[in-house]
Amino acid sequence: MDQPPPLLSAEQISNRVDELAAEIDEAYADTEMLVLIGVLKGSFIFLSDLARRLHVPHRVEFIAVSSYGAKESEHADPVRLIMDVRHGIDGHDVLLVEDIVDTGHTLAYLKRLFAAHEPKTLGTCALLHKPDRTEQEVEVDYLGFTIPDVWVVGYGLDYAERHRTLPYIGELPPAMR
Ligand code: 5GP
Repeated sequence: MDQPPPLLSAEQISNRVDELAAEIDEAYADTEMLVLIGVLKGSFIFLSDLARRLHVPHRVEFIAVSSYGAKESEHADPVRLIMDVRHGIDGHDVLLVEDIVDTGHTLAYLKRLFAAHEPKTLGTCALLHKPDRTEQEVEVDYLGFTIPDVWVVGYGLDYAERHRTLPYIGELPPAMR
């Protein structure tokens, strides 16, 4: 199988994840417990690398969301939760961890949803951001890389479940889809 051409090498990603972990460690130096909430499936590799570099006390939760299709796009919320956290987050420092912010709808929805659970603080972290695609502005407190409007795979990200475990982030040209 042909491999997608690299956009970000494994080394670039690893160096940036080191930096993000250091920033998060500093920001949450006084936390009693930082709850990292990863959005499945795309964030599973990023979150596992990030969490293993943290020194502050933390625990890991995963959630899953699903996007409504084009036919349902008139729905008020283009995103819905299909798997929730196992343990309550009220009163905790919470950091939402996304693979990529594209239109911004998913992260904006999750911020609204989890704010309603009354965490002590609610932060956002994403490995990638495609600013050219923004439909809904949403602040990302800890961002890995800004990338152009291309379809990326690897390091947790897929195309129809393929390429998810590539060690780097590659750009999947239309001809390879
Ligand atoms: P948003 O709600 O910001 O438009 O979309 C976020 C979700 O879309 C991401 O969590 C991811 O699942 C998917 N997504 C957006 N762009 C890409 C991409 O380039 N590659 C992959 N694999 N998923 C993407």
